[in-house]
Amino acid sequence: MGIVTGIADAADLVWRRDCPGCARVEPVPVGRGIGVCRDCAVALRRPPSPVDGSFSPRVYSAGPYGGVHRAIILAAKDHHRPDAVTVLGEVIAGVVRQLVTTGELPDPRLAPVVLLAAPTRPSAARERGGCVVARAAVVAARSLDGYADAAAVASLAEGTPDSVGLSRAARTVNLSQGLELDRSELRRVRRLLRAPGAVACVVDDVCTTGATLGGFTTALAARGVIPAAGVVAAGA
Ligand SMILES: [Zn+2]
Repeated sequence: MGIVTGIADAADLVWRRDCPGCARVEPVPVGRGIGVCRDCAVALRRPPSPVDGSFSPRVYSAGPYGGVHRAIILAAKDHHRPDAVTVLGEVIAGVVRQLVTTGELPDPRLAPVVLLAAPTRPSAARERGGCVVARAAVVAARSLDGYADAAAVASLAEGTPDSVGLSRAARTVNLSQGLELDRSELRRVRRLLRAPGAVACVVDDVCTTGATLGGFTTALAARGVIPAAGVVAAGA
């Protein structure tokens, strides 16, 4: 025990080298690749698929909520691992790239793509050292060669009633009513979206019932921002 142990513990927290997707301990190249082991990188690079359900806009996910996708999300949100947030951002960027390839979204080099992070409660964001989805959206925008933009236009009011037990439609209404919008950030987004061909995408870590993205989209639409697609790291 003592100072040396303390420093070693601190270094372990900052420089964790175990893969955030599978906990396998091996050197993870910093600043190279996706920040996970080779097997997890393969699993995370599968083509995205639309999330089941009649969502508007259509929501695309990098994979099902399980395995490595779930592990990355939990590592970012529950274990507060910054490297997992970066991986989450890269996964979201990968979905956007695929949607550009299939023509669902414009090429951000030609028309701005604005990634709008789904809202979270400020208390949850504080616990996690900042909103995980908003930070991942910034990573994603940077990864898209810096041509995309990321914005956090809304947070969830602390007093918003829990949606457990509500129908999907009721959850959507509950969430859209519980949003607090950042007006100056929303103005910035509107300015970005005035560019020819510009589109907005709502972004979240996971889409299960669709209530969060649905409520967010409803609130955005009421303020003149109509997202072209939803992008998530994992879908139910
Ligand atoms: Zn791994």
